[in-house]
Amino acid sequence: MSKKALIVSDMLNDFIDENGALYCGETVHAIVPFIRERIERYRRQGAAVIYLRDAHDAHDEEFEKFPPHCVAGTWGSEVISELAPIAGEPVVNKKRYSGFYGTDLEKILLEKAIGAVEVVGVCTSICVMDTVAGLANRGYSISVPVKGVADFDAKFHEFALKRMAQLYGARII
Ligand SMILES: [Zn+2]
Repeated sequence: MSKKALIVSDMLNDFIDENGALYCGETVHAIVPFIRERIERYRRQGAAVIYLRDAHDAHDEEFEKFPPHCVAGTWGSEVISELAPIAGEPVVNKKRYSGFYGTDLEKILLEKAIGAVEVVGVCTSICVMDTVAGLANRGYSISVPVKGVADFDAKFHEFALKRMAQLYGARII
């Protein structure tokens, strides 16, 4: 029987902390306690919790579009302390929006025999949506809780939720 996993996308100091290099804004704070509850529930059930982490090179080409952020090995690229991973939980470093691009995420999901994935984190219209696209292309059952995702752009947030539901079949819960 296939198992379920929680993917926690980019809940990193540079995005979530007010002093972060690419702070996502006020709306991110409300999702932290919600995500904490979800993480604790998955852990209690013995289900997988998988973290995605933006971890850029010092001169990454993404910095032509965004201010430099989440440089690998720095404070900004660490998961916020409230949601810190525990021993054995994979933290997947990525350099692009999708959690699948250039990473072991696909292998990890296969090894853990995952069939259903819940995605939480930031930003709804960027890394969350691109990772959901990758999950949909690979046939996973997907859910995205509205209370568990945030974006610095409210319109993009709403659009992304609709698009993930209509194009990728994600259950928006
Ligand atoms: Zn980035």
